[in-house]
Amino acid sequence: MSAEAKRAPGAETAGGRNILVVGVGGQGVIMISKVLALIGQRRGFEVKQSEVHGMAKRGGIVFSHVRFAPKVWSPTIAKGEADALIALEWAESLRWLDFLKPETGVFIADTRRIVPPFACLNRQQGAVTAYAKATPAEVVERISNAYALDASGIAAGLGDARAANTVLLGCYSVALDEPLEHWREALDLFVPKAARAINHAAFDAGRTWAEAARAGTQEVPTMPALFSARGPAVKSELEINAAWCKGCDICVKLCPERCLALDKKQIAVLTKPDACTGCRVCEWLCPDFAITVHQTAVGAA
Ligand code: SF4
Ligand code: SF4
Repeated sequence: MSAEAKRAPGAETAGGRNILVVGVGGQGVIMISKVLALIGQRRGFEVKQSEVHGMAKRGGIVFSHVRFAPKVWSPTIAKGEADALIALEWAESLRWLDFLKPETGVFIADTRRIVPPFACLNRQQGAVTAYAKATPAEVVERISNAYALDASGIAAGLGDARAANTVLLGCYSVALDEPLEHWREALDLFVPKAARAINHAAFDAGRTWAEAARAGTQEVPTMPALFSARGPAVKSELEINAAWCKGCDICVKLCPERCLALDKKQIAVLTKPDACTGCRVCEWLCPDFAITVHQTAVGAA
């Protein structure tokens, strides 16, 4: 039995919930919290939801407190009082850990990493960065109710990595005895019509993942080395998904080599391919998954 199956997400205390949802701009933190708030309302509870997303457009942190209970006085959750922490980004999951109830709090986190620019101490490939070092295995070992999953990978496998938030929501949904159609109705209220099908699929995938975790058949995902010591030379190629780029300018402003720009349609383009070092800063920072840096070892077939 894997470590993360020690306790299922559904093993929380009965009644109301304090749920903290965290991530960075563009990941869909607010959508999840709105769905949870609506579910709380449907269950007849008083609901309070608060959020901070002032820096969201620049890839900054976003968090939302959702509280539902017979009576809720404060809109915010105190440290040590969250029944669940749902994290859409790995370092953010670690940053908010002390809000979780020490013994019973459920930790659900995507292992996706979005590395902030200040964490990049050196702009060269293979450089060391100051990003959080704790691995999913270490966290799952330390917290009794921890679930670390590659939600972005699961969503990408379904056709759209941006639905990772809904994978996590589906995973958490097994904690609440709520009819499936209520979750679907709530989702449909907060996702665009064109994205409903993928979000339903992502939600189901999250539930399936959680059920398998409950059965003890899920493994803790491993993380590929992010900050490998200087390894063999690699060739990098940038792929920019124009349909997903919303022209936020983050990659343009923060590319250390200044080799990106927005075109006339406000889509990011690589203007100086020869200057690109393949540092991956743009890929890590893009809140919309629009950039992928493909790397192959030089000399590899
Ligand atoms: S590709 Fe660049 S400009 Fe486009 S959404 Fe991503 S970070 Fe913003
Ligand atoms: S385009 Fe991306 S990978 Fe290339 S140097 Fe700029 S931030 Fe690094």
